[in-house]
Parts: sequence; C-alpha cells; structure tokens
Amino acid sequence: MRKEKLYGKTLDELIAVTRQIILPGYAARQIADWLYKKEITEIEEMSNLSKKTREALSEAYEIGLCPPVSEAVSSDGTKKYLFKVLNDKYIETAFIPEDDRATICLSCQAGCKMGCIFCLTGKQGFQGNLSSNEILNQFRSIPEFRKLTNIVYMGMGEPLDNLDEVIKSLEILTGLWGYGWSPTRITVSTIGLKNQVREFLERSRCHLAVSLHSPFDEERSRLMPIQKTNNIREILEIIRTADLNSQRRISFEYILFKGINDTPQHVQELARLLNGIKCRINIIRFHTIPGSEFTSPSLQEAEGFRDILNKKGILATVRRSRGEDIGAACGLLSTRAMNKQAE
Ligand code: SF4
Repeated sequence: MRKEKLYGKTLDELIAVTRQIILPGYAARQIADWLYKKEITEIEEMSNLSKKTREALSEAYEIGLCPPVSEAVSSDGTKKYLFKVLNDKYIETAFIPEDDRATICLSCQAGCKMGCIFCLTGKQGFQGNLSSNEILNQFRSIPEFRKLTNIVYMGMGEPLDNLDEVIKSLEILTGLWGYGWSPTRITVSTIGLKNQVREFLERSRCHLAVSLHSPFDEERSRLMPIQKTNNIREILEIIRTADLNSQRRISFEYILFKGINDTPQHVQELARLLNGIKCRINIIRFHTIPGSEFTSPSLQEAEGFRDILNKKGILATVRRSRGEDIGAACGLLSTRAMNKQAE
C-alpha cells in the first residue's frame, strides 16, 4: 500500500490525520512541530508521541522527503537541483546565493500549459501540478536549506494555475505552527490569471510579481498567449482596487528581448500602464534557449533601458544574470533529463 506523506500537510490536514487514528487534537500541533521545526525525517523520531501512536501513524503515513536526483553548480555559486516528481517527471529548483541573501526558486508544476514562446518550460507542455509536499520538499531537501533567507515561486510552471497547493505551501511556510517565515521574504510570481490573482491577494500576504514583458496588447499576446483571455489591464485593475497591506510588494518582471520590447515607446507605454500603482520593475535579460528567435541585450543596454524608466519615475532594477554556465534558463536541466529518459 502506498503511504500518504505527512510533510506538506497544513495544520488543519494534520488535525484530520489525528482524528483518523483517534488522537487528541493537540497531537496535530506536536506532529507539525516535528515536521516543520524539529526537521525530523522519520516518524519514529516523534518522541513525545507514544510508541503505539507512532506505529499507528506509520501504518498509513510516511514523512515523505525526497532528495534531489542531481545538481549543477555554476562558477558564480548558483546551483540548480533536479527533482523527480509525479513518479516519472522532472522539475528544477535553483539556489541563488548573493551578498547577504540566499534565495531558493521553487517550481510549482512539471512543465506548463501557458505556452509563452520564449520559455523552455512552456515548450515541455503541461505534465502535472505539484502537491504542497513536492513544492516544499524542494525547500527542505536542498543542502542549503538552513541558509535560506528568501523564497521565490518563479521556477517551472505557473504558480497561480496550481493555487490551492501553492497556498497550502505558503500557509506552512508562514504559519507560526509551521516554519514561521515572514510573508515579506516570499514572492510568488504569476503570468496574470485574473481570478486567481484576486484570490491570491485575498488569501495570502506574500509579495506578488507579475510577468509583464510588454505593455502593448498585440506584442504581449504574441509573447504570452494568456494575454488574449487575461488582459494585463484587467490584472492591473484588480491590483489597483485590492486592499493591499503596506508590507506587501507588487513588482513586475520584464524580460528584455533585444530589439523587441526595449524601445522608448515601450517606456512611454509602461509609464501610462502602471500609473497609480506603487511598484517596481525587475528587468531580466533574456536567457537564450535552443531554437529561439530572440536574442539577449547586453548588460549596458539593459541598464540603459532601466535608466530611462527611472527617469520616467518608474523604479526599475536590472536583475543580475546568475548561473549562465549551467543554463540559466529554467527548463534546460529537466528537458535534458526527460530526453534521456525517453532514449
Ligand atoms: S514563462 Fe512561466 S507561465 Fe510562461 S510558459 Fe514558462 S513557466 Fe509557464
């Protein structure tokens, strides 16, 4: 019989587990403590539960942690881990050390159904949603787990297309019974799914990063087909009218494609589009992928674009490219693993 995994369950779900094996309600908090604070790897280690209780738990449950199957290390210290999920699929997780930060970039889906034309993960097609166990296992099972200062949900897949599992993982990360992280250290990225953006802003206090990439309707539709059904203007209206607490940061990701979305007209239109929203734009130089029609601008070109935005009154920064020598674009490692599996 396949055992259910305890790791990745919220407190409410753990209460349901304790009811099932007829334990008092407080046992759920004890189990959460072992899972998320004391970081055990075996049910046997839950020493404040009786032997009988541990045996009853072990019959149907396991902790459910799973180490990465491989890793690639960049000369700049960035690491990419490959995890096996959903039995036979692969996802990538990046560990990015910086001066006083150590960030993990989590994946939420194997592949993706959004079909952005510049994205290798999109080219894989959709292979499945990750459970909160599989999302958080990436965080817990990398060797640098204890060094982490920030978490971004910007790996493979569209996080808000797997909203319930993502919200569960955020509850565990930020709950005082869980890891107790501040929501201000966690950023969830989205391509912009209107219903889910609204729901996310209501259900979570974590930061939100919206992938923008072009202020022009036609151009954005070409880059990101989602624009045809979830227009960025509708997303911005939801953000404008949401009850945002002062701690929450809204940012926009802007992948810069040389000669495509880097003109003064783009700056002009971005200023118009984002008018009235307290935000910043993160400019990311495009990471080339095999067979792509796009090219990457130089760092100087990206900084020039940033300076024009700043002059227009839009706070913009250029994100440092990391892990270029190990394939910075998300999806390369897992595509290779998939191809190898198919051989
Ligand atoms: S950019 Fe994000 S949303 Fe678009 S296809 Fe890639 S993973 Fe999916």
